[in-house]
Amino acid sequence: AAPIHVVGGGLAGSEAAWQIARRGLPVVLHEMRPLRATDAHKTDGLAELVCSNSFRSDDALNNAVGLLHEEMRRCGSLIMRCGDAHKLPAGGALAVDRDGFSAAVTAALEAEPLISIERGEVEGLPPAEWDSVILATGPLTSPALAQAIGQLTGEAYLAFFDAIAPIVYRESIDFSKAWMQSRYDKPGPGGSGKDYINCPFTKEQYEAFVAALLSGETTDFKEWETNTPYFEGCLPIEVMASRGLDTLRYGPMKPVGLTDPSTGRQPYAVLQLRQDNALGTLYNLVGFQTKLKYGQQSEIFRLIPGLENASFARLGGLHRNTFINSPRLLDGELRLKAEPRLRFAGQITGVEGYVESAAVGILAGRFASAERLGESLAPPPATTALGALLGHITGGADAETFQPMNVNFGLLPPLDAGADGKKIKKRERKPAMARRALAALDGWLDGPSPGSRAAAE
Ligand code: FAD
Repeated sequence: AAPIHVVGGGLAGSEAAWQIARRGLPVVLHEMRPLRATDAHKTDGLAELVCSNSFRSDDALNNAVGLLHEEMRRCGSLIMRCGDAHKLPAGGALAVDRDGFSAAVTAALEAEPLISIERGEVEGLPPAEWDSVILATGPLTSPALAQAIGQLTGEAYLAFFDAIAPIVYRESIDFSKAWMQSRYDKPGPGGSGKDYINCPFTKEQYEAFVAALLSGETTDFKEWETNTPYFEGCLPIEVMASRGLDTLRYGPMKPVGLTDPSTGRQPYAVLQLRQDNALGTLYNLVGFQTKLKYGQQSEIFRLIPGLENASFARLGGLHRNTFINSPRLLDGELRLKAEPRLRFAGQITGVEGYVESAAVGILAGRFASAERLGESLAPPPATTALGALLGHITGGADAETFQPMNVNFGLLPPLDAGADGKKIKKRERKPAMARRALAALDGWLDGPSPGSRAAAE
């Protein structure tokens, strides 16, 4: 068979190439380093970890990324195998020796006869004779390739910055203070006129909140990030607050068209939260992208009436990050609808994190292999972390507000009631979801889709 081409030998591309070779198919893995550098990588090793050396929690039953680790192990992940082999003491987290880890991934790929590694930049759209390509060029995709992707997808669907507003679990919002209403009761796609969650502020609460924002410590832009301008439309909330006491009240926190049912009046200011996933379990704080440090964010955002006990599925941020609008552009097998010979994997699909990037590499590698072999591969069930992540980027997320996302339990469908018909207790929910996920994953690996288990072995 003609080889499948994987562009980018990072977390996702290394994993994708490995998965394809496991299916007995030839792969060419293209990596531009060391001939061409990025602003963050420092070595010529494959799967280099550019910043922290942590794969985050390894607790498969209580943490969504820990669950993803376990699912990936069961899929025969090279990234997890090398991560486990180069583990460092880090409590419940999986931290790795970055050099040993990258060297092990590189050695495994170099030793695999079906994989040939070509060093060199793919400078534009891959040549037409490459009939199956996985683009896994990451958040720092080279400018020439990014430009070509932008032309193909439409510039508006390629972003160079993530402007992430924090996301909270709906169940952690206090609805004795918050209420559902769209501005001027305007019916949205839901049709109800009640599409947003609103948190009201009195004058005193608003002023205290602005003061807290202004005293919060922010993270710095890296030197190379300052050269990429951010737009007025996505200024960090604390920058807006610094422009004047009323700036937020006339901006993202404007109260017009909203009536607090507990007072019957328009509040002094409002925070709106918008549904973030199809399941309705996650809501984002509209317009609240921020460079505040994580610890400060949870403290300051819990000053918002109704969010005192909020639990955050992700905190806000603003970083240099190249990613496409996957919910709009990709089909369920990670193929570009406009040019299906091109698949995407890794951070460029709008997942966030080393582990998530590698996870999407597994899926892209398996989909491309099945296609080459003339088989059809069902996506992993939505109740698995892998399936939930895939479902989120290829359809579950709102394309209008799409921003990169870590894996979290809010992406998985809620549990049914327990056997006794009672709601499952909060403390038991994550382990129950994790057990459900692992059973479903095993079913998928052993199921009728040819080769699911074969690739893992
Ligand atoms: P990468 O691992 O970046 O791999 C992409 C590869 O493609 C690179 O090797 C690059 O050289 C190559 N490439 C690019 N363009 C071309 C081209 N045209 N031709 C050939 N090769 C090309 N995530 C975390 O979980 N923890 C962190 O601490 C963390 N810190 C980060 C810090 C920074 C500065 C950035 C930018 C991101 C960080 N991330 C972090 C997010 C993300 O998880 C990592 O960037 C992760 O490496 C993404 O995996 P990937 O495979 O998609 O991309």
